[in-house]
Amino acid sequence: MKLVIANWKMNHLRRDAEAFCATLLASYKPVEGVVAGIAPPYPLLPVLARLCAGSPVRLYAQNAHAEARGAYTGEVSMAQIQDAGCTAVLLGHSERRQYCAETEATLLPKIKAACAQGLLPMLCIGETLAQRDANETLDVLRRQLAILPEAAPESLAIAYEPVWAIGTGRVATVAQIAEVHAFIRKELTTLLGAAGAEVPILYGGSVTPDNFAEIMRVPHVAGGLVGGASLDASKFLKLLEIAGA
Ligand code: PEP
Repeated sequence: MKLVIANWKMNHLRRDAEAFCATLLASYKPVEGVVAGIAPPYPLLPVLARLCAGSPVRLYAQNAHAEARGAYTGEVSMAQIQDAGCTAVLLGHSERRQYCAETEATLLPKIKAACAQGLLPMLCIGETLAQRDANETLDVLRRQLAILPEAAPESLAIAYEPVWAIGTGRVATVAQIAEVHAFIRKELTTLLGAAGAEVPILYGGSVTPDNFAEIMRVPHVAGGLVGGASLDASKFLKLLEIAGA
């Protein structure tokens, strides 16, 4: 299973989503085994749910709260994003770790809540430049993955996103991606047993149609979590085409 997931972050209005879907759906030729997903800002979920109805495009949320309901102003629950059409949720994106104090302690109950709701959690992990320069990359990733046995996810996807490669135009080298993805696969099988061998591991960080084919050829890379390039429907289509080739 390969996945190409568009992370729109805090971009696009309704009219942009409409134009995006018109271009996407006019040319999209689904390929078996390749999942196309879009993670829009919350207000666009109903718009995309309507526009993508009847297509295989899946909706992702960019985050959701661990609690089922209650006095959490500004938050949304797993049930609410599912009700809005999502089948999956990004958790622990580095921007949420950086700006919203997301930590392993907050992510553990979110993974549990996503699974309890029947949503696929896509856990985002990755090291900062300072951590890579200090040779701490694998230790950081080990720590970020260490919540998995307790979370005991029924389904799971991982997105490896070196923080220094997100939105910077600086892509990790094939050798760096190969080393890290092999390490993540080993950790997943240690932590989750046989199920760990099946978890898709995506790469994210300045993916474009120009570099994606090379990245997709790296062992244990099962797709891309894409920010900037995913805002443009033609580029997203090209990424899907590359994943299906
Ligand atoms: C992301 O937001 O997950 C991401 C990888 O962004 P970009 O593709 O813009 O680097």
